[in-house]
Amino acid sequence: MSGSMKVAKMFGIPVFVHWSFLLLFFWIAYLTISMGLGLKFFFWYSALFLAIFICVVFHEFGHALTARRYGVQTRDIILSPIGGIARLEKLPEKPIQEFLVALAGPLVNIGIFLVLLSIQLVFGVGDMQVWTEPDFKSMMNVLLRGSFVTFMFTTLLGLNLGLAVFNLIPAFPMDGGRILRSLLAIPLKRVRATQVAVFIAQIIAGLIFIWAISNGEIILGLITVFVFFAARQENRIVRFDALLENKYVRDLVQPSFTRIYKFDMVQEATSRLKMGIERNFLVLESSEEDTVLGVLHEPYLVEAIKKNEEFTPVANSLSQRFETVRPEMNLKDLFHLMRKEGYTILPVVDDQNQLLGKVDMQGLNNFLTTQQKLGS
Ligand SMILES: [Zn+2]
Repeated sequence: MSGSMKVAKMFGIPVFVHWSFLLLFFWIAYLTISMGLGLKFFFWYSALFLAIFICVVFHEFGHALTARRYGVQTRDIILSPIGGIARLEKLPEKPIQEFLVALAGPLVNIGIFLVLLSIQLVFGVGDMQVWTEPDFKSMMNVLLRGSFVTFMFTTLLGLNLGLAVFNLIPAFPMDGGRILRSLLAIPLKRVRATQVAVFIAQIIAGLIFIWAISNGEIILGLITVFVFFAARQENRIVRFDALLENKYVRDLVQPSFTRIYKFDMVQEATSRLKMGIERNFLVLESSEEDTVLGVLHEPYLVEAIKKNEEFTPVANSLSQRFETVRPEMNLKDLFHLMRKEGYTILPVVDDQNQLLGKVDMQGLNNFLTTQQKLGS
């Protein structure tokens, strides 16, 4: 993923950190300086954030390693300031498997919580009294006056419990939303189960939104807006999956399309784009040889029109990020591949690598729109 840096590889799964994660340290530095809190505050909070970061990584490995038991691999784990994501290749389809994969993340945090709690109870390292403080700020003030170990133990104890509870809220895209959907999918069909789960997620998001706004909790309000739309997105994906389930690339392949050749000018493509007929193009070796060399994407072409660069050779500007697909590929897999990789157009080839035609996102979207109208 762009803007991310690989920091570790565990169980064969790379862990990436998004650059914006560094902002957290600037934010701590800013707080330290602006509030005149001193270096102790800076180091303690930085250590705390690193520890939370590790807990979130463990949470994501909970999902990833449980998914692996059901034969679902994880591409990578990405951490950003708003949380972690384990990018699974696909979701396990059996309800019970999805249930266990979703539950595994929060269970990891509950596990960490219980371990910390036992250590605290046996060795008395943490500060139990602090939980009686009226608010978070005064709690942190008390902890900052104590020892570093007490500070870390107590905050991590609370935060792991908080992470588990937050993720168990039964609303997409939280783990709780998936847990709810998987339970609903036992009596219902997956599409119906998702609709119900999304409906519940949106009601919960709506209620929290009203509470947040009337209490001046702007950030919480924004999170609920995000949850509302993420829930809608989940609904779309599952509905699309159902529509695409028994359809194949051969049903959608377009054998006739504008062929752009290596030695053509960019203008060959932009003239078609201006007509609004085709938006992305395959670039081929020559009219005698159907080998696909790359693709021309719409944003690039628009840029070329604006900059008056239409009369430059295609060869200088084609993108080589593409892969060929086969006619027997399931449309559901194609849809996920194109979304995941950000492909807009792909060549379809047969066993002999002969070009049969193209498939593109535009065609896929038109197909989905029609299918939805037909209500099949
Ligand atoms: Zn999770």
